[in-house]
Amino acid sequence: MLCPWCEREMQAGEIIGDARSSVRFQPEGKKLTFGDSLCGIGKLTAIKSKWVTFYLPAHYCSHCHKMVVETDVAK
Ligand SMILES: [Zn+2]
Repeated sequence: MLCPWCEREMQAGEIIGDARSSVRFQPEGKKLTFGDSLCGIGKLTAIKSKWVTFYLPAHYCSHCHKMVVETDVAK
């Protein structure tokens, strides 16, 4: 994948972390509530969990120091 900012080749990989807490997208100016969490609102659908770890496919540009993640946000 080419970086959308500098058009150099990006490095494919995964963002990994602890799966005990979900990873959600909180739009600027909106505070996600505990109820939103229970309903799965803001959850990134591309995240895959296995045991206690989550994996999120991503591309990283070492020139721009930016990442691109392809996902949908649960509503
Ligand atoms: Zn770049």
